[in-house]
Amino acid sequence: MARRKKIYEGKAKTLYEGPEPGTIVQYFKDDATAFNAEKRDVIEGKGVLNNLLSEFFMQGLGQIGVPTHFLKRLNMREQLVRSCEIIPLEVIVRNYAAGSMSKRLGIEEGTQLPRPIVEYCYKDDALGDPLVTEEHIAAFGWASQQDMDDILSLALRVNDFLSGVMLAVGIRLVDFKIEIGRVYEGDFQRLVVADEISPDSCRLWDIETGQKLDKDVFRRDLGSLTDAYTEVARRLGVMPNNPPAPGKPTLVN
Ligand code: UDP
Repeated sequence: MARRKKIYEGKAKTLYEGPEPGTIVQYFKDDATAFNAEKRDVIEGKGVLNNLLSEFFMQGLGQIGVPTHFLKRLNMREQLVRSCEIIPLEVIVRNYAAGSMSKRLGIEEGTQLPRPIVEYCYKDDALGDPLVTEEHIAAFGWASQQDMDDILSLALRVNDFLSGVMLAVGIRLVDFKIEIGRVYEGDFQRLVVADEISPDSCRLWDIETGQKLDKDVFRRDLGSLTDAYTEVARRLGVMPNNPPAPGKPTLVN
């Protein structure tokens, strides 16, 4: 078989040319990085869990009419997605204060915010993904005003969906990051949720105990990251060969 062409290798995923024009294969690696890749490790099984979880969230979003780049899962580590032009912004939605927001504004972690707050960071590892305002985004032409309206609406819809899905399995969605892609369809273009949605890019706390079930387990050395992600997957009924716990919601295909 011909060796497929690698398009890009990131910290947690590798992208390969897909079987048809306009498609890409996303391969989920086991590599974990934090603090702008200053801390790194290989966590066996993380890629498989994130592939399955991202499929679950992207499919669910598709079912409620939120466009995503997801086409189908190919195997335990790979999924087929639409190729898109990634807007160079990390779109962060926060429901409770945590992480960099707590530090920046001196708000205790876990404080509920008066309403969801959306922030934008400029995607640039060398600069440490700095927080930017809509003024920067407009002035530097990273996205148009129409794009920003669409991005805000997508981000809030993803927040409502993910918050609800998590709440149903006893997990609080504290915050998350998404990336947005631009796809071209003839003369038209539209924005879709791209990249991945997984515990690597969300803060997820058990509602009862406050236990962290996300990448903070790795960032802050709080125990086994695989156990935490497995727990999220188990509650959502996303584990391979493992039906959901009785009474837990499932997405109807
Ligand atoms: N996040 C991410 N990638 C990044 C930065 C942040 O996925 O490069 C996620 C992070 O997991 C959290 C949310 O975005 O769910 C907000 O992160 P924050 O700004 O608090 O940064 P951190 O404290 O993680 O440095």
